[in-house]
Amino acid sequence: MAAHTETDPHGFQRRGVLFVLSSPSGAGKSTIARKLLADDPSLSMSVSATTRPIRPGEVDGKDYHFVDLEEFRRMVSAHEFLEWAHVFGHRYGTPKKPVYDMLSSGRDVLFDIDWQGAQQLFQIAGGDVVRIFILPPSMEELHQRLLSRATDPVEVIDARMARAANEVSHWDGYDYVLVNDDVEDCFHKVRSILASERLKRSRQTGLIGFIRGLLK
Ligand code: 5GP
Repeated sequence: MAAHTETDPHGFQRRGVLFVLSSPSGAGKSTIARKLLADDPSLSMSVSATTRPIRPGEVDGKDYHFVDLEEFRRMVSAHEFLEWAHVFGHRYGTPKKPVYDMLSSGRDVLFDIDWQGAQQLFQIAGGDVVRIFILPPSMEELHQRLLSRATDPVEVIDARMARAANEVSHWDGYDYVLVNDDVEDCFHKVRSILASERLKRSRQTGLIGFIRGLLK
């Protein structure tokens, strides 16, 4: 499904990468996603739609498209999602069209979605998907991070902690697993993974012509 892109410095065409970052809430995934996007102009974020209420500081259309249940259901019926899932009692989905648009304009796409989304995306796009799972250094540290964020009520934080163990149990559905004990270090590792994945032979569809030229 990934359209051909032309981001290689030599001008070779290659297949776009669908780059999935998953982790339990609070494991640092959003910080790493932000740093990747700031660092890499050929990477774009997929903005999900959700029925979850907006949190202080979030921006509609940037962090999520905040929609009501009726609108979400309409989008499901109209096949507007690449994938969608129930997470923490709310619905979250990846709108299809922006992803196709980004890929066809030559960009790779970054997804902050859970294990269910990663699984569905892999079923649709197979080898074009690269899945990274980020682990917290410990469950205590994760709890502290959620508390210090202070954006959710205590009962929501408790529920998130309870779900974290479940999410971690799906680590084996990923291509890469990293422990985020140092955010800079983790970011550099994620960036290296993206760089290597872009260079995979199977993605460099334009290389064949170049190699033929070399061998002439
Ligand atoms: P939060 O409410 O904390 O922003 O996100 C809760 C969880 O939902 C996170 O694990 C996040 O990765 C996941 N999520 C966000 N958007 C999507 C989506 O479009 N699809 C799926 N499957 N999960 C999502």
